Amino acid sequence: MVKDDCLFCKIVAGTIPSQKVYEDDQILAFHDITPAAPVHVLLIPKKHIDSMNEVSQEDLPVIGHIHGVAIQLAKELGVDQSGYRLINNCGPDSGQAVQHLHYHLLGGANLGALTG
Ligand code: 5GP
Ligand code: ZN
Repeated sequence: MVKDDCLFCKIVAGTIPSQKVYEDDQILAFHDITPAAPVHVLLIPKKHIDSMNEVSQEDLPVIGHIHGVAIQLAKELGVDQSGYRLINNCGPDSGQAVQHLHYHLLGGANLGALTG
């Protein structure tokens, strides 16, 4: 459930501080330390999962829950009408830097086209 050398497990445990915006028994959401947009929140399962590739059938409810909380936070943070992006990076080509599954909620500015 916890990986000793994992940055986000340490954030879940509270041994590394974070600016939390949502927490329950399953998930945590906190402000990104290097925001790429005016709103930049990370949503993570408290359970350690390396990446999207390691998500199992039993993990799917928590993924759905993350999506539900992202929708709620987009409203609370005032970007639901202006628009936002929910991103998961998986693996080297995506630039995934932290090997604990997380979703970026980005908004508050025009984010540009994702492709092309
Ligand atoms: P990735 O590139 O793995 O999808 O995204 C990792 C994200 O974690 C980056 O946006 C980075 O700024 C953020 N991050 C890295 N270290 C910390 C930290 O100690 N605290 C917080 N709040 N965010 C972090
Ligand atoms: Zn972890």
